[in-house]
Amino acid sequence: MSWPGNWPIHLPRRHIACDGEPRNDQSFEQRQAKGMTSVSDLSSFSLTGKRILVTGANTGIGQGIAVSVARAGGLVVGVGRSAMDDTAGKVAAVGGSFEAAKADLGDPAEGAAMLDRVWDESGPLDGLVNNAGIIRRADAVDLSEADWDDVMDVNLKTVFRLCQGFARRVLAEPGRRGKIVNIASVLSFQGGIRVASYTASKHGVLGLSRLLACEWAAKGINVNGIAPGYIETNNTEALRADPERSAGILGRIPAGRWGGADDIGDAAVFLLARASDYMHGAVVPVDGGWLAR
Ligand code: NAP
Repeated sequence: MSWPGNWPIHLPRRHIACDGEPRNDQSFEQRQAKGMTSVSDLSSFSLTGKRILVTGANTGIGQGIAVSVARAGGLVVGVGRSAMDDTAGKVAAVGGSFEAAKADLGDPAEGAAMLDRVWDESGPLDGLVNNAGIIRRADAVDLSEADWDDVMDVNLKTVFRLCQGFARRVLAEPGRRGKIVNIASVLSFQGGIRVASYTASKHGVLGLSRLLACEWAAKGINVNGIAPGYIETNNTEALRADPERSAGILGRIPAGRWGGADDIGDAAVFLLARASDYMHGAVVPVDGGWLAR
């Protein structure tokens, strides 16, 4: 592992019984003698000192990812078109560091320029999370060209431009490594209803993540993705407000609940950390079991 920075870090040792049950009836030595203990070292799951750029960090899943990254010791660069004070406050509350960068990601060129600006002005990045995304709902026969183009620009074209810009910078420095996490969707695998441009864009994110992983795996860049299920954010507000759709969705989720932004944030930490170094081109469902059904 040749990440720049201060690997390995050593977190406080915890003693864990092998069967997962708390065992306070025996000393550590007694349990160790019986092979019932292990000493945990979570350094491969840590992001200490890593600078991670997260798009769409002002709210929803992006905010959840920012807070999870900060909790794991990472330095968050939040990108968006709206004020990110709320996220900055939440990151500060967990003792993290937050830097805001403004960009309208509906303009792929603006997104690419922002990444270069961040890199030049405040230092290199270790990870990129392409989270910002939009959805437009209409029957396919009624979907406007603008609703097709707007969604494709934010959800797919900008994602490509940011991956490309990140990789160019990483590959320009011999020995540098990088991690990319693209936020896909269960609609990267399914058709969905009344969201033609969204489904097309998220299928694109899945294919693009695989393609880029194949090109860059041997060059020190991991490209992976997360396919969130139904998460409580602005994106799903309309669904949650519709009692029939809401009940139908909830009834189909094996976990029996909507997801929270931190469910996605913690999975992102894993894909940004050393622990996932041998993962390339995987788009991991974090969906309460939705796709398993
Ligand atoms: P959200 O609450 O609507 O947040 C979307 C984020 O993207 C916001 O920060 C938004 O900023 C940003 N964004 C959108 N257009 C932008 C633009 N032109 N320039 C800059 N930022 C822009 O939705 P979310 O649920 O957190 O979604 C985050 C990601 O997860 C998306 O890619 C979405 O497709 C994906 N996802 C969500 C779910 C779910 O159930 N919620 C499920 C599967 C996948 P503004 O606030 O300024 O608009």
